[in-house]
This record gives sequence, C-alpha cells and structure tokens, in this order.
Amino acid sequence: MTAYPDTQLFIDGIWRDATGGRIIPVFDPATGLPIGKVAHADRTDLDAALAAAERGFALWRLTSAYERARLMRKAAELLRARAEDIAVMMTRENGKPLAQARLETLAGADIIDWFAGEGQRAYGQVIPARAPDVVQMTLKLPVGPVAAFTPWNFPINQVVRKLSAALAAGCSIIVKAPEETPASPAALIRAFADAGVPAGVVNLVFGVPAEISEYLIPHPVIRKISFTGSTPVGKHLAALAGLHMKRATMELGGHAPVIVAGDADLALAVPQIAAHKFRNAGQVCVSPTRFLVQDSLHDRFVQQFTEFAQSVRVGNGLDPETEMGPLANDRRIPALEALISDAVDKGARLTTGGRRIGNEGYFFEPTVLADVPTSARIMNEEPFGPVAIINRFATLDAAIAEANRLPFALSAYAYTTSSATATRLGHEVEAGMTTINHLGLALPEVPFGGMKDSGHGTEGGSEALGAYLETRFITRKG
Ligand code: NAD
Repeated sequence: MTAYPDTQLFIDGIWRDATGGRIIPVFDPATGLPIGKVAHADRTDLDAALAAAERGFALWRLTSAYERARLMRKAAELLRARAEDIAVMMTRENGKPLAQARLETLAGADIIDWFAGEGQRAYGQVIPARAPDVVQMTLKLPVGPVAAFTPWNFPINQVVRKLSAALAAGCSIIVKAPEETPASPAALIRAFADAGVPAGVVNLVFGVPAEISEYLIPHPVIRKISFTGSTPVGKHLAALAGLHMKRATMELGGHAPVIVAGDADLALAVPQIAAHKFRNAGQVCVSPTRFLVQDSLHDRFVQQFTEFAQSVRVGNGLDPETEMGPLANDRRIPALEALISDAVDKGARLTTGGRRIGNEGYFFEPTVLADVPTSARIMNEEPFGPVAIINRFATLDAAIAEANRLPFALSAYAYTTSSATATRLGHEVEAGMTTINHLGLALPEVPFGGMKDSGHGTEGGSEALGAYLETRFITRKG
C-alpha cells in the first residue's frame, strides 16, 4: 500500500514546514489511529503566503488566458495520472470507499479542464453608444488574491472548484484546506505546481481555521473569500467579509427534501436514492435527508429503503467490497447519537440502525427513522451522517410546504411520472438545485450552490467564473 505522506505548507512555490515547527496529527477514521501529520501555520507563514499571493497575482493576471488554460490542462492530466495513489491517501484520511475517492479525484480533473475553457471565454461587451465617436465597453478582469476555506468531506472536490475558477479568471489564491484530510488536497496543489503554475499563484496553509480566517479575510491583500462548511460558520465569515467589503461565495449546509409522489416508479427511486443517501456516509451538503412519501407508497418505500440500508456493506474504505466507510471524524458519532435518541424520544420509529459499530474507528450503522415529528431536532438540523428520515404526506401542497419549511435551500430531489407534478416541484420547491427522476447534480457545467441559509453564489456552470471577475466599464471618445 502507498505510504500515507506527511503534509507541508506550500508557499511561494516551496513545500516547507511551518516556521514555528508546529504540527497537527492526522487520524485514520477506520482505525482511530494516527497516520501522519500536517504543518500548522503561524502568523509568519500567513504573512509569507499573503506576500506570495500578491506577487503571484501581479504575474498571473498578465499571463494570457490561453497560457493559463494550457497550464491548467496539464495539471488536470497530472491529476488523472496520479489518481490511484491520491485515492488511497484520501480513503486513509477521510474513510470513504476507494471507488468514491477515485471518482472524486478524476472528477476534479474534469472540473479543472472545464474551468480552463471558461477562462478563455471571459468575454466583456461592446455597448451601443449614443454618439458615433464613442466606444463603450466592459472588460472582465480578475478580482485579485482569493482566500478559500474548504472542509474535510470532499477533500479534493471542495478545493478544486474554487482553485480552478480562481486560476482560470487570473486570480492568485491561498487555500486553507482541511486539517483532518490534508494529503489529498496537497496532492491536488502539487499537480498545479508540477504543471508549471508560477510560484506565489497557488498557496496552501493549514492551522486553526478560525485564527486563519480572522487574519486573512480582513487583510488588504485578499479581495475575495470563498467558504464551504456549516451555516453558522458561513454566516460568521460572510459577516466578516461584509465588514471589510470583500466579495464572498458561501456554500453552506442543507437538509434536502426528497418528494416521492404517489405515481413515482419505486423500482427506480429506492435503489437510486438510497445508494445516494449512504454515499460518503451521508456527510454531503446535498445529501438527501427528509424523504417525503405520498400515502399510497409510504409503507412500501419505508420497507424497501430499510432493506436497502440493511444490505449496505460497511467497512474499511480500502476493502473493495466496502460500500460505506466510517464517519470522517469522531465528533459526528455523539452528534448523530444525540439527534437519533431525541427523535425516538419524541415518537419517531427507528426501523434500522441507530448505533455506532464496534469500538475501533468511527463506523456507524446505516439508519432509517420513520414518522418523525417536526419538533424533533433532526427535522430541523442537518444530520450530516448516514440517517434517512421518512415521513408521509397526503397532498402535493403539504409536501411542498414541508420541503420549504426550513431555512436551508441547497438541493432537492423528486420522483414522479407526472410531468405536471415535475414542473410544479421544479418551480415551487425552494432549492438552488433540484434533480427529478435521476441524480444529475454537481457536474462541472451545471450550477452548484444554494439559497437562503444554504449560502449564495454558484461553484459550477457558466456563472461560476463571474465570482472571480470584476466588470470594468470603459468609455472612450475619439
Ligand atoms: P464545523 O462547523 O466546526 O466546521 C465545518 C468546516 O468549517 C470545517 O472544514 C472547519 O475547518 C471550517 N471552519 C470552522 N470554523 C471556521 C472558521 N472560523 N474559519 C474558517 N473555517 C472554519 O463543523 P464540523 O464538525 O467540521 O462539520 C460538521 C458540520 O459542518 C456539519 O453539520 C455540516 O453542516 C457542516 N459541513 C458542511 C460541509 C459542506 O459541504 N457544506 C462540509 C463539511 C461540514
């Protein structure tokens, strides 16, 4: 097996330890044992990263879009060539099954390629003028050095969306990647460095997230913030960004409804959405969580979903037979236990699961709760784990009202064979992304983002590059 590497900081084109020599241990969630360490940046390191990002921006913004795309595509090729080793690192630090880690890495290469092309199409406009000797035009120019904060659930995917959009637009970037899962995002950054992206354009730091964000966000060098993580932290960072007039993209929590209408095809719906529920042990911002099933199908759906949950093979992600790995960190175990026991105390029916598996590693049973009252905490807080909540509804109005009850509005799912119902759900369910009768989210070319408390801005599709560009207007006479 590939040895798990220690992770250094990457500042101004150099891989190095933290100035103060501090480190943070990294644990394998399948065993709970330490497997390596990551460098812990202090203020001196952050200052070095800021100075590097400032120099990197001065160089990169003048590098042609064509050349930027060429280097990015080379990075994508390196990532593909190294995907097998990177996937093993990711599974060891995050716990997800190897096949999912491999897919995430390869999908990362596709995201780089897509944004490389978008950067070559960052068109401005020529605006018809009121006089024949006046030329009015807009230019799309990079906003400046970016500070990006990313979580541990998709160690590569969460970085690559921000990194690729920033680089394609001509921005430099400081990535504060997750301390729990540092090696695979570092391997992503290494692909860009090895592809020839100049020193200072991409920088990577780790440390205490709150200390780093409190320092970088107000800093005058930083012009743009992008954060993926929980809603409370996102609100705090968005407020800080606002205070310092910095542009911000916020990709935050969700609590996705799945509306299964009485005319849905259960043979399609159950295996598809149940497998999706247990992907990455449910630690996914767009994970389906509140299953709302119309009366006529409800009991059969609960039974078939429960049988599916019982069939999921839980184990070490390195075992090719494993379908669901451990939770990524130990703090999710008490968090899930508390949510489940609160729901059961309030009258919910536990049809399967609900407990930690064994004492080694952070394994948890695929869990199904039925008839969960709205007052239960889990109906209001993002579960972020392998727990499905299945409730019944009588009318479509009631299902839509329940879907829209929460402040979250990230993703939504629906199954129906009626095109009228599909149209209504697409328009009336409040979600940044709705996928009906199939799983179609998170491709590079489609929007990825939320509304309401789930944040703002998109990290995919044709609008994503705009978050890293400024529109400059120039009018000229003669
Ligand atoms: P958390 O809120 O402590 O941290 C979430 C992420 O934000 C982590 O990556 C963390 O390093 C970072 N973070 C925390 N405080 C920060 C700060 N002040 N400045 C910058 N970054 C900061 O929660 P957690 O225990 O790591 O994860 C559990 C919760 O986080 C879940 O319930 C879920 O809501 C949310 N989460 C969401 C996503 C997502 O994809 N949207 C990913 C991971 C976690």
